Amino acid sequence: MRIAIIGAGISSITIAQNLKKDATVSIFEKSKSVGGRMAFRRSTPYEFDHGAQFFTAKGTIFKNFIKPLIKENIIKRWDARFAEFIDNKILRTISWNAEYPHYVGTPGMNSIAEYLSTELSIKLNTKVNKVVHNANNWELFDDDSNNLGKFDWVISTAPAIQSAEILPVYFKYHKDLLDRKMVGCFSLMLGFKKPISLLWDVALIRNADISWISINSSKPDRGNSFSMLINSTNAWAEDHLSDDSQSVISYLQKETTRIIGHDTGNADHVSLKAWHYANISKQTKSDLLIDYDNKLASCGDWITQGRIENAFEAGFLMAQEINKIIK
Ligand SMILES: Cc1cc2nc3c(=O)[nH]c(=O)nc-3n(C[C@H](O)[C@H](O)[C@H](O)COP(=O)(O)OP(=O)(O)OC[C@H]3O[C@@H](n4cnc5c(N)ncnc54)[C@H](O)[C@@H]3O)c2cc1C
Repeated sequence: MRIAIIGAGISSITIAQNLKKDATVSIFEKSKSVGGRMAFRRSTPYEFDHGAQFFTAKGTIFKNFIKPLIKENIIKRWDARFAEFIDNKILRTISWNAEYPHYVGTPGMNSIAEYLSTELSIKLNTKVNKVVHNANNWELFDDDSNNLGKFDWVISTAPAIQSAEILPVYFKYHKDLLDRKMVGCFSLMLGFKKPISLLWDVALIRNADISWISINSSKPDRGNSFSMLINSTNAWAEDHLSDDSQSVISYLQKETTRIIGHDTGNADHVSLKAWHYANISKQTKSDLLIDYDNKLASCGDWITQGRIENAFEAGFLMAQEINKIIK
C-alpha cells in the first residue's frame, strides 16, 4: 500500500510512524523543515520557538508517546515562572513544576518532529497543489505541475481550509473542512544583548491585544541570549493580517512595553511571523475524516482543538483506522 501524506507536522509524523511497518509512506512538505507549527528559528545568537510554546500531556496515549522522548532528552520539562496579567497588572504568579508538567522540545520545539522523522521518507520544499485520480491511482502534483508519484491513499494534514483547496470537492468530508474555522496569530520575536530583569518567564495576558509572552531563553537547552516571544491575540491578528509588517511590529512592541513596564523598543533583534491558520477552538464534532470509497482522508489538530496533544491524537487515531484496512 502506497500512502501519500501532505504536510510534516506532528499529526503527519505520527501517522507515518504508525503506518510505516505495513505501508510505503511518502510525506510532502511545502516548507524547508519538518515540524509545521511546532516551529523553531535561530537568528544568531537568538533562538525562538515562534509557533507552539509548550505542551501538556493529559491522555494516556500521549503520555506514553512522550515517555521515551523524555528519556532521550528530546523533550524536557519547562519549570517556568508563570504570571497572569490583567492588562498591565500582575494578578497572580505560580511556578510550573512536576505536579502538572509543561514540556518543550529541545533544543527547539521542532526537535521532536526532527527526531521522529529520521527514518521517514520526506520531500521538503514541495507544495502539493493538486491531487488527481488516474487509472486507480492518486497522483500528486506540485506548484510547477511536477508529478510527485502514484499512491493508493492520500491523507492531507494541512490546515483544514488548505486541505479543502488540495483535495477534490467530491472528498466525502469536503464541507467539514470548509466548516473548520482556524484563526490567525502574530509571533513577534525580540532579542536583547542586555537581558531584561523580570519576575516571570511566561505571561498570560488578559484584556489586551497580546495574549502570551515567553522568555524563550528560559526554556531548557536554549542559548543564553535573552530572547522574548510575544503572541498577539487571535482576534487582533484576524483584524490585522493584511497590515504591513512594520506597523504590526511597532504596535505589538508598544503593547509589550506598556504591559510589562520595560522598554522593548531598544531590542537588538526584531522579527515577525504571521500565522494565518494558527489555532482553532474546541470543536463539537470530532469524527475522523476518512473517505473509504475514494481512499482520501484528512486530519490535524483542527479535528478537535488547536493543541499539540490534539494533533498527535488525531494522527494516532487516523493511523489506527488506516491500519485496519492495510493489514
Ligand atoms: C503561534 C502559535 C502558538 C501555539 N501555541 C501552542 C501551545 O503553546 N501549545 C500547544 O499545544 N499548541 C500550540 N499551538 C498549536 C500547535 O502548534 C498545533 O496544534 C500543532 O502543531 C498542529 O500540528 P499539525 O500536524 O496538526 O499541523 P501543522 O503543524 O500545521 O502541520 C501541517 C503541515 O502541512 C504543511 N502544508 C500545508 N499545506 C501544504 C501543501 N499544500 N503541501 C505540502 N505541505 C503543506 C505545513 O507547512 C505544515 O508543516 C500553537 C500554534 C501557533 C501557530
